[in-house]
Amino acid sequence: MFLFVLNCFVLYLSIRNRNKVHINIIAMINSERNKIVAELSDPDKVWDVIIVGGGATGLGAALDAASRGFSTLLLEQADFAKGTSSRSTKLAHGGVRYLAQGDIGLVREALHERGLMLKNAAHLVKNESFVIPNYEWWGGMFYTIGLTLYDLLAGKLGFGRAKYLSKKEVIRRIPTIEQKGLYSGVVYQDGQFDDSRLAVNIAQTSLEQGATVLNYFKVNNLIKDTKGNIAGVVALDIESGITYQVKGKAVINATGVFADDVLQLDKPGKKPLIRPSQGIHLVLDMSFMPSEDALMIPKTSDGRVLFAVPWHDKLVVGTTDTPIKEHSLEPLALEEEIEFIIKTADQYLVKAPQRKDVLSMFAGLRPLAAPQDGSEKTKEISRSHKIIVSESGLITITGGKWTTYRKMAEDTIDKAIKVGNLENRPVRTKDLLIHGSTPNVDRKDHLYVYGTDRAALLELKNENSAWAEKLDPRAEYIGAEVIWAVRHEMARNLEDVLARRVRVLFLDARMAIDIAPKVAGLIASELHKDAAWIEDQVASFTKLAQSYLLVPYSRTK
Ligand SMILES: Cc1cc2nc3c(=O)[nH]c(=O)nc-3n(C[C@H](O)[C@H](O)[C@H](O)COP(=O)(O)OP(=O)(O)OC[C@H]3O[C@@H](n4cnc5c(N)ncnc54)[C@H](O)[C@@H]3O)c2cc1C
Repeated sequence: MFLFVLNCFVLYLSIRNRNKVHINIIAMINSERNKIVAELSDPDKVWDVIIVGGGATGLGAALDAASRGFSTLLLEQADFAKGTSSRSTKLAHGGVRYLAQGDIGLVREALHERGLMLKNAAHLVKNESFVIPNYEWWGGMFYTIGLTLYDLLAGKLGFGRAKYLSKKEVIRRIPTIEQKGLYSGVVYQDGQFDDSRLAVNIAQTSLEQGATVLNYFKVNNLIKDTKGNIAGVVALDIESGITYQVKGKAVINATGVFADDVLQLDKPGKKPLIRPSQGIHLVLDMSFMPSEDALMIPKTSDGRVLFAVPWHDKLVVGTTDTPIKEHSLEPLALEEEIEFIIKTADQYLVKAPQRKDVLSMFAGLRPLAAPQDGSEKTKEISRSHKIIVSESGLITITGGKWTTYRKMAEDTIDKAIKVGNLENRPVRTKDLLIHGSTPNVDRKDHLYVYGTDRAALLELKNENSAWAEKLDPRAEYIGAEVIWAVRHEMARNLEDVLARRVRVLFLDARMAIDIAPKVAGLIASELHKDAAWIEDQVASFTKLAQSYLLVPYSRTK
């Protein structure tokens, strides 16, 4: 009886302190990474689901599988969201462009997912107004009707109705808009989010649901049984250099633009499935567009869509859509792409951006499914996702977009249940809150992105008061964010912290270069690294950050 009462009490405490308990689980996992890694060498362990790739697609699949109660392992060769998933335009959207292309099903599905994203990760996703300026007399009516249809497709999860704007109203909302030839405008509502922070929070939620997720683990081969069916993966721990053979009932290839590399491991010589398409963004100071609204140009000089979106007090302008042959984790912007964005921004904003005004520039690769007719036009390749099951049983998920990550995961795990002969269990992610989610988001300072973790992060100053100080007098970031990223968000190095936990590399690469030595010192103290490690980290990060700038920069101190 005593034990029963004690158990009930413990259960009550754990429910009451649910967030604290989750934080502790993650802290323990971070500090005991080696112990978890050692578990991978258990020769008898057979995972229900093994996922290769820790971008939006892979992490979504890990969360889906773990929340259905399947034993789940996710392996990411670099950091979570190091690939395309940290390099998006930061829109949780249905895709107005796809509506124009008549892809109603895709738009409806994405708008539904946009609504679920806002519901389940309100600390990172927000309802944003987008203004379309019209320089044609017919534009006002045309876009108001089109965007009303867009809103209707969202059904109950709509973000608000589109409205016609007079020329005066457009100028009031976006004072730096080019006024010459302006007739009118339309304002519509869509979603905006922080991509890599959402990826990290999905990884944390997956852990809380029982998954094992590891960054810096590269899958470099596949294991097959005597009949040639997929039976697991061979993975290299990048940190230790040790290779592990891991068995699984279903193996999912969620490696984005790297999908063909994994497919080659399965069947050498296989025809490529992916057609990478590069998109770049330039980040500018808000003085170029001091507005709470985002700007959407539906048809630029070459028929593309261009956005200028306020994001963490900076303006993200993009993107491009350039078919490319090579793929890498750090794709480089092409000169013609940079020119195109600068020229187009100049066309629509009164203050023309110069190369020195670019605070950061990042490029990403869309993992588009290659068309079978050999067409070169990436605009015309469908953005819907595709799940392909190889003869061996390897499941590859490709295409899609960040906004639809949850539905992509649902479809993939439904497939894994069939392929891996797993018990049929229903999806649970529609109402599953993402780690940190809170309905009461107070955006009073930049720490709102931590959601329910904010208070615990600020409590770190009780351990060391210096952690409450700013990393640089000009920056808002504080030392506690670095400690938090290492202890609770699985950051392993300087780039993980400055690029994907605190987004300073993407927002202001010069600032990132300036604070790098201090941040590396904080990380080193947590991970017990020496001065040589700090020096090495600062040097390689500085080199990387230079490639995010258009004009070379030297650290100010
Ligand atoms: C320029 C641009 C703008 C975009 N804007 C938006 C937007 O605003 N809204 C939206 O909804 N979508 C947007 N998208 C689409 C969206 O970003 C992508 O669809 C999504 O991020 C793809 O995620 P992924 O997980 O499939 O790929 P990735 O994020 O690339 O993840 C794949 C991961 O697999 C890992 N990997 C590869 N090989 C191995 C291996 N052998 N072992 C272990 N790991 C491996 C890689 O390191 C990588 O982290 C945009 C895309 C681009 C390019």
